Amino acid sequence: MIKDIKGLHHVTSMASDARRNNAFFTDTLGLRRVKKTVNFDDPAVYHLYYGDENGTPGTVMTYFPFPDMAHGRPGVGEVSETQFAIPKGALAFWQDRLAAKGVNLLETDTAFGSNRLRFNGPDGEGIALIETADDFRAAWNGTGISDSVALRGFSGARFRLHDAAATAELLRFMGYERTETEGNVTRFVIPDGNGANTVDLEVLPQTPYARQGAGSVHHIAFAVENRAKQLEVRRALMDTGYQVTPVIDRDYFWAIYFRTPGGVLFEVATNEPGFDRDEDTAHLGEVLKLPARYEPFREQIEAGLPSLAA
Ligand code: ZN
Repeated sequence: MIKDIKGLHHVTSMASDARRNNAFFTDTLGLRRVKKTVNFDDPAVYHLYYGDENGTPGTVMTYFPFPDMAHGRPGVGEVSETQFAIPKGALAFWQDRLAAKGVNLLETDTAFGSNRLRFNGPDGEGIALIETADDFRAAWNGTGISDSVALRGFSGARFRLHDAAATAELLRFMGYERTETEGNVTRFVIPDGNGANTVDLEVLPQTPYARQGAGSVHHIAFAVENRAKQLEVRRALMDTGYQVTPVIDRDYFWAIYFRTPGGVLFEVATNEPGFDRDEDTAHLGEVLKLPARYEPFREQIEAGLPSLAA
């Protein structure tokens, strides 16, 4: 069994409008844009990262905004909900704030003993804010949202699956422990994680497979401390029969990817080197950063990207 996974690292989704996406995650939800770069496989498209002050693993929501991309069709075989922790008692603040900003499908409920506020992001993505006790992660307060209510990073994510058995087995192999089941949802928790500790598996045997598009989660990344641990995880997964990519340099972390039996694309990403490797912490995310191979084309890449300013 793998013992080096520390919870989620980041969640990467697709959007249809970079400016609207940026405004929602920074102005509305109060996250910090910690990196403005391009999709390393398609430099005509941004890769935007939103998180806490430093982009700490377990707090980082990232997007590829493909201009005018069609919306995805929700279904099974995907991450259906990205969950952020908020302090206890903060739910009413967010309900008022998001309603005032015209956010769609706001609803409150309780799951696994926690109050939740669920809603759709600008491309219909499922997001939940979950009241969480004893989450001591520092919030980013650069957007003026009070520390008493601000997002602390992910608490976890929910998957929708036809059948949970194979994914449950994989999560246990990755070090997760099965805790409770409520209805058709079973919770898995990583012990000693970074705060983004839970994965919920929702079983929907009759629901069609999702079609990916804007608003869909592209992949979900799990955190390991460093490259040595990542290689051990890669070897363990391959010994178990998973087809895992070679290690890929993503400039701010090292990544390996593999497709899981339920259909969700998993990544295992390193906590090193982090988002301050090429710019000062005080100015993260302000200017366009490019991987070295695209630097000679900066002028034309910048000219083709939309402005993020409101
Ligand atoms: Zn990723």
